[in-house]
Amino acid sequence: MNKNYDVIISGAGPSGSLLGYLLDSKGINTIILEKENFPRHKICAGGLQYRVCKLLPFDIKKVIEKEIYGIYFSFKSKGIFKKKYQKPIILTTKRNRFDNFLALKAKKAGCKIKFNCKVLGFDAKNKKIAVKSNTGIFHSKILVGADGTRGVLYKKIIPKEEIRKIIGYEFEMDMVRLNGCLDLSENLSLDFGGAKKSYSWIFPKKGNYSCGTGGPIENAKDIRSYFKYFMSEYCRLKSQANKLNIYSQTIPVRAKTSPVMDFRIINIGDAAGLGDALTGEGLYNSFKSSFIAADSIIDAIKTGNFSFNEYWDRMDKEIYSNIRLSVKFSNFLFAFPSFIYKTIKKSDKAFNICCQILRGEKTYNDIGKKLKFF
Ligand SMILES: Cc1cc2nc3c(=O)[nH]c(=O)nc-3n(C[C@H](O)[C@H](O)[C@H](O)COP(=O)(O)OP(=O)(O)OC[C@H]3O[C@@H](n4cnc5c(N)ncnc54)[C@H](O)[C@@H]3O)c2cc1C
Repeated sequence: MNKNYDVIISGAGPSGSLLGYLLDSKGINTIILEKENFPRHKICAGGLQYRVCKLLPFDIKKVIEKEIYGIYFSFKSKGIFKKKYQKPIILTTKRNRFDNFLALKAKKAGCKIKFNCKVLGFDAKNKKIAVKSNTGIFHSKILVGADGTRGVLYKKIIPKEEIRKIIGYEFEMDMVRLNGCLDLSENLSLDFGGAKKSYSWIFPKKGNYSCGTGGPIENAKDIRSYFKYFMSEYCRLKSQANKLNIYSQTIPVRAKTSPVMDFRIINIGDAAGLGDALTGEGLYNSFKSSFIAADSIIDAIKTGNFSFNEYWDRMDKEIYSNIRLSVKFSNFLFAFPSFIYKTIKKSDKAFNICCQILRGEKTYNDIGKKLKFF
């Protein structure tokens, strides 16, 4: 295998595969090095904001499980009520299928993908980068970190203290075990007020549910313990709730203003800390970062300027400004969880605003402008 490329991407998650697709579609010789073999399991609720469909340059219907129109809200697992929106609020997908689909899209565009290839380190020299992996050394003009929160570039490029970590717990449960009290065929369930600054969810897929919870890593113990209680309320066989195989992973939220790139190197997706502090979602921002990275890389290869200052400027304006607002919103709303619950229960207007944010028809910025104290 040729080991010289224009671009090496570490990680074939959604951000890496989309970037591979965008670059090779423009004739940039790209390889993705991925430590796992696909399809692989990924801890994620698999909720796709509706605006993701508008952003992606291809149709993703094939890998959509459910279109969600309604939400069951509860407070500490009690007082369930349902609200419905006239358009789909979010879509659900299974990450093993979704990520495999995106990797195939990249491959079809001409991007090489090497699975079972773990990036171990890199050396940025003046004219190229040497990327060390468990299967040998690869060379490129540019290295992209798309290897999530467990990758090499995430740890090397972003100082630890700049990340605010959300811990996410998740497991998948089959239809049979869920209690029949909710109709989750095209609705999801959101529960507030359980553990401090956290919320829990049930997302329906075809044939099973993704059940999870998330909140600040400092409260991990309480969040996990409440999650077991929440699930025992919904499991048909309550005794099974204690035997669930729960996975955990962090969602990185970065609200600082120092760069996420270096000479010849840029980070995208979770490796750039693009999680939303309020919802914990990261896919929309990850895809957006792939588009910004593609523009900057094409420019860098044309001009020979590999400082990526423009990448940083655009990331700050187009993504981090919204993440900073998500931190402010989450600080405020999670301080008063019963206020969120009661407001949504009473006010269709408040519910509609939530739906518009999730659909991408409104941003935190739009809401922030109206609420002057933000
Ligand atoms: C519990 C939980 C629930 C979530 N639910 C949602 C949700 O409903 N909606 C939403 O929008 N977001 C959600 N997220 C966030 C979302 O999963 C991430 O934002 C998204 O996966 C980021 O994509 P990525 O491509 O940047 O990274 P990843 O998806 O993490 O992909 C990184 C890839 O890099 C590979 N890799 C890692 N290290 C190396 C290495 N050294 N060498 C080579 N390859 C490597 C990994 O195997 C992986 O394939 C959730 C996260 C958690 C933890």
